[in-house]
Amino acid sequence: MDLDSAIRKVPDFPKPGILFYDITSIFTNPKAFKFVVDSMLDLYKDEKVDGVISIESRGFLLGSCFSYHNNVPLVLARKKGKLPCKTIEMSYDLEYGSATLEIHEEDLVPKKRWLIIDDLIATGGTLAATAAMVESVGAQVAGIFSIIGLPFLNYEEKIGKYSPKTLLNYSTEKICETE
Ligand code: AMP
Repeated sequence: MDLDSAIRKVPDFPKPGILFYDITSIFTNPKAFKFVVDSMLDLYKDEKVDGVISIESRGFLLGSCFSYHNNVPLVLARKKGKLPCKTIEMSYDLEYGSATLEIHEEDLVPKKRWLIIDDLIATGGTLAATAAMVESVGAQVAGIFSIIGLPFLNYEEKIGKYSPKTLLNYSTEKICETE
């Protein structure tokens, strides 16, 4: 499967100079969608994963597949203000400014191993903040999965200890911080 050709690249989005890797084109391509989900499931078939934390919003697409297939809970990490009950929250730096993610406190069960899933790893800040929430309640990070990695942004420095896995990596000097 030529996964690269299934990923739409959008120059100058959301701002000039940014190359945006649009993974929605994977989901309109059933062959690519199946390849991505099967590859993800295969990578973790021998790992002990008690539950999945998926990151708003594109992480939800893959997190739900993993959870459904493996019969484990799916927890949503959402942008601040979207979840109605008591939350744990973590703020992290973006290129300009900062962002905050929240998880329902009662959903994040301590002493369990959580796989964190998003669509793309850029600087690793989003995933590092999510991992910090997991650890703050005494739970463990079982791993980190994303379709795409941008290793030139040195995300290994932030999240290398969680053994992040990706299906393909790009090398370009362009960075995008979205949403
Ligand atoms: P980071 O926290 O820097 O690792 O940024 C990761 C988040 O930003 C992910 O949720 C991605 O969806 C989004 N993102 C960052 N850069 C890009 C890019 N070049 N193309 C598409 N999404 C991106």
